[in-house]
Amino acid sequence: MNVPQDTCLVYLVHFQKPLAHAQHYIGKSNNIDRRVLEHRNGRGSRLLRVVSARGIDWDVVRTWEFSTSAEAGKFERQLKKKCKSARRICPVCKDEFYKREYELRKIRKAQRESLCFGEVHRAE
Ligand SMILES: [Zn+2]
Repeated sequence: MNVPQDTCLVYLVHFQKPLAHAQHYIGKSNNIDRRVLEHRNGRGSRLLRVVSARGIDWDVVRTWEFSTSAEAGKFERQLKKKCKSARRICPVCKDEFYKREYELRKIRKAQRESLCFGEVHRAE
C-alpha cells in the first residue's frame, strides 16, 4: 500500500459489552494495524487493557482519515468532547440508537392515536 507517511487515522473502537458506562474508545494513529495489535497485546491504552482483561471483545468499527497528525488530533479532541454521543457515530450502536428512537416514536404515536380515538368515542 502506498500511504503517505503523514496520513493519520482517527479510529472508533466499540466494546461488545459496556464497561461501567463506557462502550467506546477513540484514538489516533498513523499505523492502525500496528496500533490495533498493540491494543490486542495490552499495550497503548489502559481502558482497552481493562476491557480485554474483563474478557470483553472489541473492534475498530469506524475510521476517519487525515493528511496530517495535527488535523487528526484536532478531530479526535472534538470527538472526545462529544463522547456522550459516540453512540450516534458508531455504526454498531447507531442502529440500536435509532431503532429505539423509532420504537419510542411509534409508541408515542399509538398513544396519541388512542387518545384521539378516546376523544372521538366520548364525543359520540
Ligand atoms: Zn458502539
